Amino acid sequence: MRKPKIASDWLAGCAGCHMSLLDIDERIIAVTELADLRATPITDLKQPDEKGVDVGILEGGINNSANEEVAIRMRKRCGILVALGDCAVFGGVPAMRNFFTIEESLRRAYVETESTDSEGMIPNDPELCVPTKVRSLQEVVPVDIFVPGCPPDADTIFYVLSELAQGRRPDIKGDKNQWQ
Ligand code: SF4
Repeated sequence: MRKPKIASDWLAGCAGCHMSLLDIDERIIAVTELADLRATPITDLKQPDEKGVDVGILEGGINNSANEEVAIRMRKRCGILVALGDCAVFGGVPAMRNFFTIEESLRRAYVETESTDSEGMIPNDPELCVPTKVRSLQEVVPVDIFVPGCPPDADTIFYVLSELAQGRRPDIKGDKNQWQ
């Protein structure tokens, strides 16, 4: 039987959700026996197969035009799209930036930080992506499964991966202890 293909990528987040994925430790072997893990930020392949994958997993919110491109590409190439972690589910910590204008945020990051010297300036190059308001994943592309948590714990991630790898839709409501 063909193994389902799973790919993941990250957007505006802290990489903590993928670190939590790695916290499933040796259970990654069980996942790889059930599924073909394709492109991820922590493997050599970086983009989901052009011919498509069964499951796409995205960590992080949508923070700029580059994030939009990654989210749209994953949505086009995957059958089931999973929003992994609070940033993807509702914007999370990065969305705190929405209390300020983009200009104020860029000034704070590149000019006003305590470690910035007097030459600090906001980067300005046509090749740079365009910053946007921070949005949840579902504000940009349709999402099939939401896995909240900051980050979701490793047991939750293992449950979600193993269910998807076996062609089942994970039920992430209820007491997580039932999954252990
Ligand atoms: Fe990091 Fe939390 Fe966002 Fe995951 S949900 S990327 S752990 S801030």
